[in-house]
Amino acid sequence: MATLELEDVHRHFGGVKAVDGVDLVLERGELRALIGPNGCGKSTLFNLITGALRPTAGRIRLAGRDITGLPPHRIARAGIGRKFQVASVFDDLSVEDNLAIAAWTRGRRGQHLPLAALLTRLRLAERRATLAGELSHGERQWVEIGMMLAAGPSVLLLDEPTAGMTAAETAATVDLIRDIAATGDVTVLVIEHDVGFLERLDCAVTVMAKGRILRTGSFADMRADPEVRALYFGTAA
Ligand code: ADP
Ligand code: MG
Repeated sequence: MATLELEDVHRHFGGVKAVDGVDLVLERGELRALIGPNGCGKSTLFNLITGALRPTAGRIRLAGRDITGLPPHRIARAGIGRKFQVASVFDDLSVEDNLAIAAWTRGRRGQHLPLAALLTRLRLAERRATLAGELSHGERQWVEIGMMLAAGPSVLLLDEPTAGMTAAETAATVDLIRDIAATGDVTVLVIEHDVGFLERLDCAVTVMAKGRILRTGSFADMRADPEVRALYFGTAA
């Protein structure tokens, strides 16, 4: 059974068909990138999956359970975590305390990753006692990803997780995201524009255009595809 399944999902804003009939199936532990030009509906799709927006039509299922139209807190509790572009960590608390609070407030019973293991996965073991406010931009983003992991999600939605990061932080984030998916428990869908990031992430890429899915394939195939190039890589270069 697929972890996340979207079936003919639509979301219209007045006359704007922001999401216009999306079918998407993500398997357990799958890592998938979502790309497409500005305004093609990527963030709206995330908002539909998390319940921030209700679909105009279509069904969304999590591990076979219909979650269409549920309020965001229930979808979050069902196991879908989302990272926004702006981190929402507590600056006055240590890295460790931020993670502990997330596990306590958001954690689902029996799903907790031990804190020490989580710190190691985030490459923040040495920074465990550091106040979040003293971290670099990249480290803060990793704490936020860790706060989502502490909740024991089955799906992680990441919207441009490397925005504003240094090259080294971006490379470390690729490793972190690959590690998370490689556990086999968490399905990761990541919106990203950075071509170097996508190449390193080395996973299937789904290309959206005008509210629809144009194609899914390897990064190499997408980069070689004339239509995708014209639509996306051409304008990104
Ligand atoms: P992307 O994330 O791919 O850049 P969005 O999902 O943000 O694209 O936007 C898709 C389309 O839907 C755009 O035309 C955008 O202007 C429109 N849109 C998104 N959110 C709203 C909203 N809350 N109200 C009206 N139009 C919206
Ligand atoms: Mg967007």
